[in-house]
Amino acid sequence: MARRKKIYEGKAKTLYEGPEPGTIVQYFKDDATAFNAEKRDVIEGKGVLNNILSEYFMQGLNDIGVPTHFLKRLNMREQLVRAAEIIPLEIIVRNYAAGSLSKRLGLEEGMRLPRPIIEYCYKDDALGDPLVSEEHIAAFGWATSQDMDDIVSLALRVNDFMSGVMKAVGIRLVDFKIEVGRVYEGDFQRLIVADEISPDSCRLWDVETNQKLDKDVFRRDLGSLTDAYSEVARRLGVLPKGAVPMAKPTLIN
Ligand code: UDP
Repeated sequence: MARRKKIYEGKAKTLYEGPEPGTIVQYFKDDATAFNAEKRDVIEGKGVLNNILSEYFMQGLNDIGVPTHFLKRLNMREQLVRAAEIIPLEIIVRNYAAGSLSKRLGLEEGMRLPRPIIEYCYKDDALGDPLVSEEHIAAFGWATSQDMDDIVSLALRVNDFMSGVMKAVGIRLVDFKIEVGRVYEGDFQRLIVADEISPDSCRLWDVETNQKLDKDVFRRDLGSLTDAYSEVARRLGVLPKGAVPMAKPTLIN
């Protein structure tokens, strides 16, 4: 069998050429990184969980007419997606203050924001993905003003969908990041949601206890990351049986 062609290897995923032109196989690794890859670890089972959770969210978005790159899940770690030209922006939507916003503006984490706030970071690891304004985006030609209208509309629709899905299982969607890519259809082009939507790219807090069920568990050493992601998958009814290692037994005094 011919070895398939690797297109790109990122921090948490590897992309391979897909079986048909215009398709890509997205492989979810177990690698976890934070603080621009200064902190890193391998978390057994994370890739399996993110593959299944990203499938769940992206398919749900497709089903309500929010276009995404997701085509189908191939196996426990891989999914088939549409190839798209990624716009070099991380699009962050926030409902509650947390993380870098709290730090930047001195806001208490968990404070409800007056309305969803969208921020943009320029995708460049060497620069640490700096926050940029629409002025930078327009001036440097990273996206047109039509693209920006489409990006805002996609981001807000993803926010409404994700907030509702998570609320139904007792989880607060604090914030999240999406990436958007351009696809061509005949003479037309449009933007679709790409990359992944998973607890790696969202902040998810239990509604009752504020327990963190996202990558902050890794960033801030709050316990087992697979336990947290498994809990999200379990509540959504998509926890893969036997695929994720059980947490090590802990001593009960
Ligand atoms: N985020 C992400 N990738 C990044 C930066 C942020 O997925 O490279 C997500 C992060 O998980 C959170 C949201 O975007 O859900 C907002 O992150 P923030 O700007 O607060 O940055 P952080 O505190 O994670 O550095």
